[in-house]
Amino acid sequence: MSPEHPTVLLVEDEPAQREVLAYNLEADGFRVTRAGNGEEALMLVEEAAPDIIVLDWMLPNVSGIEVCRQLKTRSETRGVPIIMLSARSEEVDRVRGLETGADDYVVKPYSVVELMARVRAQLRRTRPATVGERLEYTDIVLDSETHRVTRADKPLKLGPTEFRLLATFMEKPGRVWSREQLLDRVWGRDIYVDTRTVDVHIGRLRKALCQHGGSDPLRTVRGAGYALG
Ligand code: CA
Repeated sequence: MSPEHPTVLLVEDEPAQREVLAYNLEADGFRVTRAGNGEEALMLVEEAAPDIIVLDWMLPNVSGIEVCRQLKTRSETRGVPIIMLSARSEEVDRVRGLETGADDYVVKPYSVVELMARVRAQLRRTRPATVGERLEYTDIVLDSETHRVTRADKPLKLGPTEFRLLATFMEKPGRVWSREQLLDRVWGRDIYVDTRTVDVHIGRLRKALCQHGGSDPLRTVRGAGYALG
């Protein structure tokens, strides 16, 4: 597992099932946030969107289906992959689960190993840097497994913050990130960091990317933030 440590929101009302799964995910390098019901899950996502959500279908009050439907309706949370867990195996339920926008569906009792493989499969699509994927953009190659970056085959020296910034940019080339979004993604929301700190590290990243020459691939978007390419 890469040092990026993907964040998982685990929504399960059965404490024993929740703890077994959380234990396994944490042992594999995931940062796990636990929720015991749908309301709590929605509140936690509002606070900080996780990289992925593992969501039990049968929850008290607000069901997993309803939580999924709400999150997939909002533009801010639509992109977060959701894996639904359910004790129902009927085909009709599978269809309903996918219709609400769930990205994958696992039937209980599930094998923890299989569920973890499904979690990683979703992250390879949405957060490749968190699962050790190799990212490429023009002549820049970032290996999130070994934490090495090269440009035109020459190794680049990068600090840990610059590495995380670059990984974020390389996951979605062309996307414009605001300073606040970069703070959330790279520093995490629990830590208080001034948005000007982002500018300082962007400056360092630019310098690092050009340490053997080449043009600056980062773009400053006035009033909006930064983008790669
Ligand atoms: Ca349940």
